[in-house]
Amino acid sequence: MDFKAFAEDAKSGEVTRVPSLCNGCSSYCGVWAYVKNGRLWKVEGHEMHMKSRGNLCARGHGVAYNVYNPGRVSQPMKRIAENKFKPISWDEAFQEVGNKMQQLVEQHGGDKVVWACHGGKETYAQPFLDVLGSDNYITHYATCFSAKTNIWQQMCGGMYNPDFDQAKYMLFAGRNYAGGIIPAAMQRITEAKSKGMKIIVVDPRFCELATIADEWIPIKPGTDLAFFLGIAHTLIAENLYNKEFVRKYVYGFDEFWNQGFNAEKASEISGIPADKIKEIARELAKNAPQAFLDPGYHGLNAHYQNSNETVMMNVIVNALLGNFWHAGGLFPAASYYLRASRRNIFWHKGG
Ligand code: SF4
Repeated sequence: MDFKAFAEDAKSGEVTRVPSLCNGCSSYCGVWAYVKNGRLWKVEGHEMHMKSRGNLCARGHGVAYNVYNPGRVSQPMKRIAENKFKPISWDEAFQEVGNKMQQLVEQHGGDKVVWACHGGKETYAQPFLDVLGSDNYITHYATCFSAKTNIWQQMCGGMYNPDFDQAKYMLFAGRNYAGGIIPAAMQRITEAKSKGMKIIVVDPRFCELATIADEWIPIKPGTDLAFFLGIAHTLIAENLYNKEFVRKYVYGFDEFWNQGFNAEKASEISGIPADKIKEIARELAKNAPQAFLDPGYHGLNAHYQNSNETVMMNVIVNALLGNFWHAGGLFPAASYYLRASRRNIFWHKGG
């Protein structure tokens, strides 16, 4: 190959910018794909996409190389022997899979069919499996964030996200935005910090987010539920909670309060001094509703034996702060509306 000629040719090539989505993870960040001489040349974050806001993570840039990866699977592959595959057309693949499925359903019934995927395909999977008579939709959610999404769904009708941009006080427990997906979140958190917002990170390890926190508070792994209970107790015992919100929207407040789980008990379990737990509760209350306990993601919100209860307490702490639907507090995620509209349910502020 004449590389000089190739380089010259490449210089004069026209660059076109195509809007697209990164497929590197479930954030599906918006990208600009730059195409030159018919090849993908580079990618950048799309400035208007809520997950990227003009930035991509390192993986997003790396994923662009997959386009020309010689090992990339770009069409259906049929297994013809142990570890041997041959490429087939999409028409052949649909025909073969359809025939096999038909046979299976006729012989054994539709409930023997399982749809297994990463997730997020409910819109297609549900009617498809309904037709076959199967309930078997399996995703990685059970090992990812099911506890969190299920509890938020059951207690509040759907998932809520923090309003980083207008918050004054943010408490992150086991949530490391700097080491995880959603590039725009870190951008928003650091911008808010430069405006004077306070960040508290509670995590057994000094995670990446802790490096920009005002305070990093180590906790014994798996004891976040006790820590949250200690915060809730302080908010109620010191009369710092949002009574109007509780009166209007909360069920079972008296039964909850009668548990009497105070900051001292939370301290014994979590290893965080009781005074520090009380201080955090007071700071949250002082800044509410522009303050929140981040709803979390993995780890304590998904993978522990007490993850369900931990997420319940997360919802309760935020409810005591009365920060739902308030600037600097929590707002419903986009999926909330999609699910709610399917069930014809909406919950508006004040209603
Ligand atoms: S977080 Fe990274 S890998 Fe995931 S969609 Fe965004 S850029 Fe791609």
